[in-house]
Amino acid sequence: MTHPELISLLQSLIRIPSPNPPGDCRAIADFCEEYLQRIGFNTTKIAPDERAWSVIGVAGSDDGPSLLLHAHIDTVPLGQNAKWTYNPFGGDVDNGKIYGLGSVDDKAPMAAMLQVAADLSERLHEIKGKLVIVCAAEEETGGVLGTKWLSENGYIPACDFVVVGEQTHNRMATAHKGVLRAAFHVRGRTSHATDPWRGRNAINGMAHLILDLERYQKDVLEARPHPLLGAASINVGVIQGGVSANVVADACTIRVDRRMVPGEDPQVVIRELQEIVAKRQALDPERSYSVDSFQISNWFQSDASSTLAQRFLAICAEETGTPAEPVGYLPGSDAKHLVNQTKQAMIVFGPGTYQVAHSTDEYTEVAELEATYRILQRFAKEMLF
Ligand SMILES: [Zn+2]
Repeated sequence: MTHPELISLLQSLIRIPSPNPPGDCRAIADFCEEYLQRIGFNTTKIAPDERAWSVIGVAGSDDGPSLLLHAHIDTVPLGQNAKWTYNPFGGDVDNGKIYGLGSVDDKAPMAAMLQVAADLSERLHEIKGKLVIVCAAEEETGGVLGTKWLSENGYIPACDFVVVGEQTHNRMATAHKGVLRAAFHVRGRTSHATDPWRGRNAINGMAHLILDLERYQKDVLEARPHPLLGAASINVGVIQGGVSANVVADACTIRVDRRMVPGEDPQVVIRELQEIVAKRQALDPERSYSVDSFQISNWFQSDASSTLAQRFLAICAEETGTPAEPVGYLPGSDAKHLVNQTKQAMIVFGPGTYQVAHSTDEYTEVAELEATYRILQRFAKEMLF
């Protein structure tokens, strides 16, 4: 079963570039606002600056159940060496796939959500309760000026059931990881490389600290996996230090990404990292070890046992033939900013996989997009009529 309107809606979204950075979402927000107005939604288009325009469309009333469908309208930028086979802003359909930057992340769920809203448009006066569509800017850079800002400033109403569109192969995800970033520093003492024992090589000190972090991953983090997301993890992504091969390095810094699983308290994670540093310091008093500049982006976890979540799960299972069990979503999403907008349950859901997102020749499978649409449409009709 092919839905030409749904496909051309996704193509239209792909043909409006919205890479972030720079994050200029004006054109795509205009498109979404006009679309929602045309099908009878009341809309708010709003931004905290001149780029990050988001759109919120609302239909129905406060009497009865409320459903929030959220997807982001920004994309990542094109890769610097990207050699696309297809036009990244073309929306070409080939071999059952729709190609384009943002085709799966996140314009596919956006298209499915807008199409569901359009299907209901002739019966909007019969809705018991409320349907809210959020077209959010700024997700790709953390959502601070997008969904976080919209939530904190009262632009997104609290709803019974919240669907955050991301790539879950049309499974219902009830958890995603959080991130804590930190910088570790070692200070030593320079000397001539001809007799390096007069100095204290900061890079050598850092080598020991990196192995401490590796042991922490294996012995501590892998011993306490999350049921849906597996173990928390730590990755050393950047190392900087030294000035020349003939000088003993007196400074070395690493930048680390620590993925948190639901249930982990960021303050406890910070203490664990500080303890690793303190232990290394105690073993090596001649160098100075420190960790700082913590940046935190929270995890999300929702309850799959509510009636609404169980219904969504059952519809997913029927439409896709997959087990009626929730899954985890490994990357982050705007769900973390919508916790206060959720009255009963929030899920992450959409076609495709994050492994295809952010990459050359990004695509959505037409069949998967259509399943996303059918699941959302069935659920919305059940809940709101
Ligand atoms: Zn996304």
